[in-house]
Amino acid sequence: MALRPAVFLDKDGTVLQDIPYNVDPARMAFAPGAREGVARLAVLGLPLIIITNQPGIALGMFGAEALRAVRRRLARMFEEEGAALAGFHYCPHLPGGALPAYAVSCACRKPAPGLLLAAAERHRIDLGRSWFVGDILDDIEAGRRAGCRTVLIDNGNETEWKPGEWRVPHRRAPDLAAASRIVAASFEPAEGARA
Ligand SMILES: [Zn+2]
Repeated sequence: MALRPAVFLDKDGTVLQDIPYNVDPARMAFAPGAREGVARLAVLGLPLIIITNQPGIALGMFGAEALRAVRRRLARMFEEEGAALAGFHYCPHLPGGALPAYAVSCACRKPAPGLLLAAAERHRIDLGRSWFVGDILDDIEAGRRAGCRTVLIDNGNETEWKPGEWRVPHRRAPDLAAASRIVAASFEPAEGARA
């Protein structure tokens, strides 16, 4: 079976309004432009996969079962826009966290690429043809380290702008609606290649 490209999406601040450590499905809402963006991405027919750091688990603020409810709610929000949520991969770790089992340095907390690599294996994804869309440079670094193309949603959520060779986005967009247009255009057949 051939590998497919995917669109990887950060959750908080990219797809959803950023409410720190929120796991209450009733408070989950699309970020500005995200509803339109998800609807446009759905048309591509590619797997849409969430990649998210969830240090609230290591901090003892909520458990994995709370994230299952978040995933279910997100899947319904995607369905309402005609999209399917193909995957939901999270890092529960945080060095210095309250729960020893999760208070570790790991390979999956962004900016590390571990979640993307695991998702690629699980969903048989061609990372080089995939995109990762996020709102901070740790997303960009994770995406680049995994070999993906990257879009930074430049909406003010990145405040540190720590530099680095992995932290330069391929593209920038003000919101997921604009990012989805960049991603969609990249999959249109080149002029002359149409059947
Ligand atoms: Zn981790």
